[in-house]
Amino acid sequence: MSNTTFTMIKPDAFADGHTGKILDMILSAGFSIKAMKTVHLTQGQAGAFYAVHRERPFYADLCRYMSSGPIVAAVLEKEHAVTAFRELIGATNPAQAAEGTIRKRFAKSIEANAVHGSDSDENAQLETTFFFCQLERV
Ligand code: UDP
Ligand code: MG
Repeated sequence: MSNTTFTMIKPDAFADGHTGKILDMILSAGFSIKAMKTVHLTQGQAGAFYAVHRERPFYADLCRYMSSGPIVAAVLEKEHAVTAFRELIGATNPAQAAEGTIRKRFAKSIEANAVHGSDSDENAQLETTFFFCQLERV
């Protein structure tokens, strides 16, 4: 199992000034930050990142939302990072997110749910490469 995962602090959380508090929760949970940058995605870049969801009814809205303002993208390290981070962020729908999770505290809706977390080691690697090596060419 790999020890890294990829995260984004999404536009709503960034715009509301929650970036510092979210990073504090991440560090307090034992993750270290290996790389981090602020970016404002184009709709095309958001669409490429979420291409796996392109047939889903929420895809167009999601691409608009994810390109609506700056985000923070980061690579995190911890043992079993992918599963540990999914636990820390909580369920996609904040109504179902457990107490103490980032989404429970900061998500506004199932779409504007404050943070992204990779769902597998393979996707963590692909998403890291997308953001830190390929973004300018998308
Ligand atoms: N999303 C949405 N409506 C839905 C499901 C998901 O707007 O019904 C958005 C939400 O921002 C979510 C993202 O699409 O974080 C990716 O969905 P996924 O199922 O991969 O959830 P995640 O892995 O982020 O928990
Ligand atoms: Mg996902």
